[in-house]
Amino acid sequence: MVSGAAIRRNTRRTRLAMVCLICLFGVAAVFISAGWWHQRAEEQLANKAAETLAVQAEALSGILDKYRLLPPLLSREPSVTALFQPDAVNPQEAARRKAVEIAGMSGAKEVAFFHPDGRVLATASSLFSDNIDEQSRLLVAVQQGRLGRQTVSLDSEQRAYGFAFGIRDNNRLIGAIAVYVDFDPVEATWSLSDNPIFVTDRLGTVFLTNRPQWRLKPLSQLMTQSGAPGHYMVDGKILHSDLTRDLPLLDWQLHVLSDERPMRTAWWTGATIAALVSALLGGIALFMVQRREAHQLRMRRDRASALRLERLVRERTRALSDTNISLSREVDERRIAEEQLRLAQAELVQAAKLAALGQMSAALSHEFNQPLTAIRTYADNAVRFLEKGRSDSVTDNLTRINGLVERMAGLSRSLLSFSRKPGTTIKSVPLVPIIDEALMLARPGAKKAGVALNFKPVESPCAVFGGQIRLSQVFVNLINNGVDALAGREDGELSICIQPGTNETIVRVVDNGPGIPPDQKISIFEPFFTTKDVGSGIGIGLSIASSIVRDFGGSLEVEDGVDGGACFVVRLKSAQETKAAAE
Ligand code: ADP
Repeated sequence: MVSGAAIRRNTRRTRLAMVCLICLFGVAAVFISAGWWHQRAEEQLANKAAETLAVQAEALSGILDKYRLLPPLLSREPSVTALFQPDAVNPQEAARRKAVEIAGMSGAKEVAFFHPDGRVLATASSLFSDNIDEQSRLLVAVQQGRLGRQTVSLDSEQRAYGFAFGIRDNNRLIGAIAVYVDFDPVEATWSLSDNPIFVTDRLGTVFLTNRPQWRLKPLSQLMTQSGAPGHYMVDGKILHSDLTRDLPLLDWQLHVLSDERPMRTAWWTGATIAALVSALLGGIALFMVQRREAHQLRMRRDRASALRLERLVRERTRALSDTNISLSREVDERRIAEEQLRLAQAELVQAAKLAALGQMSAALSHEFNQPLTAIRTYADNAVRFLEKGRSDSVTDNLTRINGLVERMAGLSRSLLSFSRKPGTTIKSVPLVPIIDEALMLARPGAKKAGVALNFKPVESPCAVFGGQIRLSQVFVNLINNGVDALAGREDGELSICIQPGTNETIVRVVDNGPGIPPDQKISIFEPFFTTKDVGSGIGIGLSIASSIVRDFGGSLEVEDGVDGGACFVVRLKSAQETKAAAE
């Protein structure tokens, strides 16, 4: 994963490169945009100036055209030719009046009549009568039969353009008429324009202009050539040489100057806009770079925390699976331990059973010896009766022997069955035969101790859940304990009764012995608790009997008997099946 410092370093580099690019781009954009704006402004100004030039040129030509036709028309007028007839009466006064009349009607600045030799006959207002030079140039054209045209100026206020034409009588030049055009209205119109408009004559003198201070000054004096070709500085204004129009008829040039300031303003406007746009774009680009950096850092942070979380989860999972493994190992160990415990318990049960058998062995061997002795006696008797031929008695003795052998075989079977290792299955077993078998095993001891054993079996086999050998062990133990408690008493009696029930079958083993003191009622079920002498008991009988009954889902408790003896209550789960299964 890219480190945060690397991301910041990269961003710094990108930002630097971007700033350089933006600067380069900005400078280029400023110059391109400024140049474009400048060019556009220049074109607009040029167009505007060209329009102005065209309009003013037309206006000027129109005014001059109006007066150009006036002298040829008037020269044919009889009242005018009459002024130069030899018989004219007071021609000077008449000519003056005529001149005043024409000037008044046409709006001309001056109207003058000349003799063919150039002398002035009369003028309307005697403005140019002294300007002999210029008038003579007019008269040269008149004498050649052309329309004379000439600028006339006395001072900046007295400027005019004169048209002159010859007055002829039968093709003989008898005089001339000159009409001078007033330019004040033209200049008044031009003064409305911001741009300098002026006319230069053949000699380059400013003749007409909307800048009064330039009048009658040579253009070269006003104009300082600027650096750019075709551009001239006049009083801080740029003059475009191509915005000059020749007025060939008048031999004049009409000029319109454009102010350069709008172009400069346009240049700066273009530059400012480009700079602002560049700055904006640059700002956006830098902002994007900044955002990208923040995004990358955030992604990195998220990734880092995801990895941290992943590692944590992995560690926790590993810890959990370790715990799981150790738990399952522990479970296995516990299962093995339980198995071992179960085996040990089974061994203990067997050991306790064998111990009980050992205790019973004396009585049992006595129980075997008695019938054996009796059998020998009956056999001897049978031999004697056979010798005597008393077959009836022989049969009787043999029958008795058979009965005794049968009894011994039954006891032997019970012993064999009792001494076998018990199984571990729990199933439905008939209760009555089990108690019968226990009684059979315990009876010799009871007989020896002089204890009467009573059992009133119920009619049904009374099935319960358990194991035959283990249940037999329980009852043998309870009966033996009772017999032990009653030993030495003449009226010793132990009774077993069954109380069948739907769910629970209760077996009570009651004796009329000394009973159990209250403080021992719990401890008698503890292992190795005994009140018997060493060698007579090891104190595990009741604890094993209790655990066997618990295994079958029942319980073993002790109560006080009716005669002050002990009453052991065995509760077992009733089984519905009546048919007992052999273990
Ligand atoms: P043990 O018979 O080897 O002593 P038990 O666990 O079978 O071991 O019996 C424990 C003790 O309970 C006996 O030592 C005895 O004191 C007492 N006990 C058992 N049954 C009776 C009974 N029917 N009457 C009086 N005491 C009894």
